Formats: sequence, structure tokens, C-alpha cells
Amino acid sequence: EHRERDKLIEAHELTAKLYNYLLKNTTHGQPALEYLRSRGVTDKQIDQFMIGYAPPQWDTLVRFLEKKQFDPEQMEKGGLFIAKGDGSGYLDRFRDRIMFPIWSREGKVIAFAGRTLGDSQPKYLNSPETVLFNKSGILYNFHQSKTLMRKNRRVVLFEGYMDVIKSWSAGVHNGVASMGTSLTEEHATILQRHADEAIICYDGDNAGQAAVLKTIPLLERAGLKVQVAMLPKGMDPDEYITANGKHLFMKEIIEHPVSVTKFKLLYARKNHILLEEEGRKNYSLEAVGIIARLESPTEREFYLKQLSREVDISLESLKQDCFKHWQQLQKMKPQRDNNDNSWNNGRNEN
Ligand code: ATP
Ligand code: MN
Ligand code: MN
Ligand code: MN
Repeated sequence: EHRERDKLIEAHELTAKLYNYLLKNTTHGQPALEYLRSRGVTDKQIDQFMIGYAPPQWDTLVRFLEKKQFDPEQMEKGGLFIAKGDGSGYLDRFRDRIMFPIWSREGKVIAFAGRTLGDSQPKYLNSPETVLFNKSGILYNFHQSKTLMRKNRRVVLFEGYMDVIKSWSAGVHNGVASMGTSLTEEHATILQRHADEAIICYDGDNAGQAAVLKTIPLLERAGLKVQVAMLPKGMDPDEYITANGKHLFMKEIIEHPVSVTKFKLLYARKNHILLEEEGRKNYSLEAVGIIARLESPTEREFYLKQLSREVDISLESLKQDCFKHWQQLQKMKPQRDNNDNSWNNGRNEN
């Protein structure tokens, strides 16, 4: 059992090196290399993240690993091979894709994510769950970001591999991403052991912003202080860096996260038309509900004042409504602690 795991790790390590070699040193890898360069990925990043290329042939990896005496059946269970339908042998799982090795927390290659060079679907193909790889416990780049994370007790969360890689070059050396799924409780627990603060920097599209809302309570329940680094509408961190440069990314986005309350208020505001009476009223009530969750009266007043200016309703009225909400919440308190969705009145659940 132990030996099998070691063998599988060895196979993954060798495969990562093979793909990296093929990307950098063969004509087959040339289009992939050009694709990466066109996206602003440098040679340094290719080496650091050991990015590679899986060629289009059916059996490049099968032949490579069989020559090295790896058991094909085991390689199939480990997610590197696929068994042929007719039982006559094995095929490479990944073909004609840019390969991103996935590391364990200890820094061993245990899985891969493969991206197409174009627009064909699926855009990303991940290794399946194996004895080595369980998605809900693995964060991309955790092994490299651990050092800084522990030092400044802070982690930055991204959605994608490219976001992690490009932001590393901008100076974010404590950035991680979940494996194309939402962040899990297990992820949050792991992060909490190394950091006190989390900055969520997800894509500036609707899906990304909805994911932020779902991720906040998860991190908060694990005991992390959360802030949100917001991107312009529709942009992801990689695109922002390409468009505006590393410097602005650090200065405008990473170093200027907003509070969870501010994020929720901005998110709520998008659903209302403030130029219309009804929209203004509804937004005010929703906003007051968000602000009422704050424990500190000072903080509540801080946001209520902003709101008062924003919707042109007197601070006095907003305060009264807020107090009513707050009283309600005090009554419900034990329930609230068990139910993170109460934060957004169930509106954004999905
Ligand atoms: P890129 O910049 O390479 O186009 P991205 O990271 O911006 O990719 P998104 O569409 O924003 O891609 O998705 C975020 C993350 O979700 C990806 O990095 C990947 O982990 C995962 N993902 C996206 N599409 C798929 C897919 N078809 N299958 C599996 N995972 C996916
Ligand atoms: Mn996205
Ligand atoms: Mn994206
Ligand atoms: Mn992207």
C-alpha cells in the first residue's frame, strides 16, 4: 500500500518532468510554448510551476512509463492512463494540453490539470480523484505559498491556475486556488492553521462574485478574518495583470481589499435600480439588514452613515430600522451561528 503510493508519486514526478521537457525542447511543444508566451507566461514561471505539454499522440506517456517498469494497471488507477474500451491496453489520459502539475501539501506531484490550447471543451481537464489526490483537501500552489503565508499570516484565494501563476510574478507569493470546485470546509480548516486572514480575489464576473459570497461564511466559520479584493467587471486577475500590469494589480487590487460588509453591500446594490424609488427603498432595507449583522455599534454607524448619503434617507430612520433588525438577530442568535446562509436572507443560495 505504502509502496504503491510511492510508486504513483514517482510516476507523477517523472511525468511532470517529461511534459516540462517536451514543452521546452521539442517542436511538438512549440505551439504550446507560444500560447503560454502569448498569455504572458515567462520561462521563469514555466520552470517554477513546472508547466508542461502533453503531446497529441495516444501513447507517449504509456510508452514512457512502461519502459520504466511502472505497472500500467496501477497507472490507470492513479489517473495517468485510461484503459482502452476493448481491454487491449492503455492510452494517455492527457493529450494535446498544457499541463499544470498539482502538488500535495508536502510538495509532491500528485495530479495534473490540463488546459486546451484553444477554445475546445472541456477547457480544463483534471486528474480524477485517486489515492493521492482528493480535490477537497488540495489547494493549487499551497506548497510554495506556505512560507509567506505563515510569515504574514495571510492567504490570497484565486479561482484559477493562471491567476495564481500570474499574480505570483506580480508579487503575491501567498496565493492559492481550489481545483475548479468551490472552496470546501476542509480547505478552510487547512488555511486556518497557517493564516489568520484571507483575501478572496475571485473573477469579476457574476459566477465569481456569487462564489465570493458563498466562500465568505466558510472562511469565517474556520476563524479567518476575511476581506475581498475586487476586480473590474468581468475581469479575472490574469486578465487584469495582462491589461494593466503587475504594479497596478498590487496597488489597486491586492492592497485595497474591501471588508466583507462592504462587499455584501456592493453585491446587494447591483440588484436594485437606485434611480427608482422602489429600488432605493428595497436596497436600503436590504443594506440595513446586512449592517445589522455587525457586532460593533461603531461599525454599524460607519456603514449606516455611508448608506444614508447613498440613498438620501436620514441616518435616524436607518438607525431605527437597523436596530429592529439587530433585535431580531439577537433573538435568533443560536440559529444564526449554525446557518451561514442567514447572511444573505437565502437570496443568493444555489
Ligand atoms: P483561463 O484563464 O486559462 O482561460 P480561468 O482560470 O480563467 O482559465 P475560469 O473559466 O475562470 O478559467 O474558471 C476558473 C477555474 O475553474 C479554472 O482555473 C479551472 O480550475 C476551473 N475550470 C474552468 N473550466 C473548467 C472545466 N471545463 N472543467 C474543469 N474545471 C474547469
Ligand atoms: Mn470564471
Ligand atoms: Mn477566470
Ligand atoms: Mn483566466
